[in-house]
Amino acid sequence: MVVEIPVEEFNPDSVGPGTVQPFFLHLCRSGNGESLGIPVLVAQGKRPGKTLVVFAGVHGDELEGVQALHEVFLQLDAGALSGRVIAVTVANLPAYRVTTRISPIDVLNLARTFPGRKDGTITERIAYYLSETILPHADFFIDLHSSGLTYVLPTMIGYHLSDTPAGKESKEAALYFGTPVMWGHPEISPGRSLSVAISRNIPWLYVEAPSGGRVSDRELPYYINGIFNLLKHLQMIPGTVARCPPDVHLVGTGDLDRTIAVNAEGFFVPKVRVLDEVCPNQVVGIVRDLFGQTIEEVSTEHGGLVGMLRAIPVVNPGDSVCLVVDRGPAVGEKV
Ligand SMILES: [Zn+2]
Repeated sequence: MVVEIPVEEFNPDSVGPGTVQPFFLHLCRSGNGESLGIPVLVAQGKRPGKTLVVFAGVHGDELEGVQALHEVFLQLDAGALSGRVIAVTVANLPAYRVTTRISPIDVLNLARTFPGRKDGTITERIAYYLSETILPHADFFIDLHSSGLTYVLPTMIGYHLSDTPAGKESKEAALYFGTPVMWGHPEISPGRSLSVAISRNIPWLYVEAPSGGRVSDRELPYYINGIFNLLKHLQMIPGTVARCPPDVHLVGTGDLDRTIAVNAEGFFVPKVRVLDEVCPNQVVGIVRDLFGQTIEEVSTEHGGLVGMLRAIPVVNPGDSVCLVVDRGPAVGEKV
């Protein structure tokens, strides 16, 4: 039975040991009377341990994380759990309902809105309650994204590249997640769930994968296995997990706001693929007009590896089309 309560009343301690409880944390009603809120699953272990907080659906067109949380909770034995898992299955319900990156109600990007405002618009209120009511419970936090409809990213785990205790925990946990690419970020721009985690000294990870707007059979297992690997690494479920060093280690900003942008309106054709190595001043793509004539060559200033490409070919001036990232040192020798 789903417990429907006002968001302020959420208390994961109310969930009995060895059980799983779904909650719908009510925020408000939309103009057409739909209930808007935050769906949360809580698995309460029988033994003491860490609290893992997981978000999916911060962007409404990124769906592997949503299904992964369903699958994990269908498989999870709360009786064998130490600590608890608090999983927000769809953080941005208005955007999820129409499969968009931004909210159709206030046209805000939830991943740029944290820590939000209590009396703000719907996206600001969601960010506020995720920041104030859910995240503070976390000993460890993971945010499940994917590329969405607009971009293509590698299958990767992102971690905090920092010498702080939380940063070291973040990097160590990333080595057990099991994706082929690991991406360390020395800084995180304001407005993200991860920025709230940093301000609260909570170690974090986030996941990306190339798909958007649908669930990829190829990518979904990385999320499910990765969450179980993380639960083992955090000693929350029985079993051991081996380190899974990545094939590729990237370092630097993953901020899609700081990418190579086009100047022209047109049809973008990439000339590189994600994870290709590129040289300074290399053409990474072209923009064509309606008749197929090239009206712009898009080149990279710096060399490195392609970390992101635009997926939707139709572009307008200022649209991001490519992000070039530095290769990091080898990490995580097999042990
Ligand atoms: Zn996202």
